[in-house]
Amino acid sequence: MTNCSNCGFENSLMSEKCSQCGMFLGFPNVNDCSQKEEMKALRKRYREKFKLAELGEQQEKRIDFEGQVKKSSAVINVSLDYLYNMIAGKSTIYSTYQLQTEGEARDFVRSEFDKERLGIEGTLFGSYGSNIRYAAMSLDGSGLKSYGDYTIILSDESVRLRTTLLEENSYSFIRRHKILAGDKIPKGYRAVWKERYKLAIAKLMGKILLTKETDYAIIVLKSTGDRKRDEYIEVHIYGKINKEAIRAVRGNSNVDPGQKEKILRIKEYLKIYKKEWIEE
Ligand SMILES: [Zn+2]
Repeated sequence: MTNCSNCGFENSLMSEKCSQCGMFLGFPNVNDCSQKEEMKALRKRYREKFKLAELGEQQEKRIDFEGQVKKSSAVINVSLDYLYNMIAGKSTIYSTYQLQTEGEARDFVRSEFDKERLGIEGTLFGSYGSNIRYAAMSLDGSGLKSYGDYTIILSDESVRLRTTLLEENSYSFIRRHKILAGDKIPKGYRAVWKERYKLAIAKLMGKILLTKETDYAIIVLKSTGDRKRDEYIEVHIYGKINKEAIRAVRGNSNVDPGQKEKILRIKEYLKIYKKEWIEE
């Protein structure tokens, strides 16, 4: 339940606005993951792993890892064509000259990354599932190549308030915990954006202690080229994502001659919008 701060009406946890007075109640995924019991369960899992690294060199590793996770980004991988349409598509050319028109507010079409998850979103989110966009958490801006060669890195501002995370990709999560439609989600495996370090420690502390500092990024997001074997922390963003949400794009410019033009145009537009291109 979410109590309305304006009129006190008890709304379903899935509501974004109060059914009685229309007041904004907050993002449903964030409200869901902010419930006392959910946060308590996560804190408990975090504390248990924290104990593995309370002293000396291990403590240093934990502090360093936590620091990296606190600066991590949400990333979405797409194909070159998808990226091109999003950044240099027709409506974008129009809005370059008429900034802040409605064209600017255009949502990405659902990417491959989203489509694959449509079937299970009802189980995880109920009726607000259609508002969720999916991404992965990345320490170094690299993404999951099985969804496309180009990684869109979202800015912290664009996700901070409306984003939650799940310990692993929703498919394997639902299978591992044998969750059926309508079942409750086991507690302690989801986090709000600012607590993502707790989730990362709860999931990975054991592995981190055995890993060099420079390899933490690979432990957090393992891109294998095969969706079934990819390992990552899944990011759930409520609402539309438009190109304003992009901080940088990471990819390889060395493409077939026929595709070169697209890369050039993408880079031109990124420059106009003051977004970064990171060569891979
Ligand atoms: Zn109300």
